[in-house]
Amino acid sequence: MEESCRVCGVINPQWVVTDKIFKNGTKHKEMRCPDCQSFYKYQKQNKEDIFYFGKYKGEKVSEVMVKDEDYIKWFLKNGIPKAARALQRVVDKINNKKIGEEK
Ligand SMILES: [Zn+2]
Repeated sequence: MEESCRVCGVINPQWVVTDKIFKNGTKHKEMRCPDCQSFYKYQKQNKEDIFYFGKYKGEKVSEVMVKDEDYIKWFLKNGIPKAARALQRVVDKINNKKIGEEK
């Protein structure tokens, strides 16, 4: 996909990307033009990795896994199926990542 800076017009530059944490806990990558430093857009990140419900709403799944593993287990069993499946994917992703880092 072709993306160009709206200010200086450079096409497909090496966007300068920095992490921004929003107030609601979601993380976005802020893209800026490397030539004129003007803001281009946010790329939304890790949407699934934050609880959108329950007592840990707004907190990272990875952090809740550390401090309250029982809640995670409980939710996987008893949470609404759609949410439990989404959580399972996040948990798997985090576990896979840890295994990858240990190697
Ligand atoms: Zn530019």
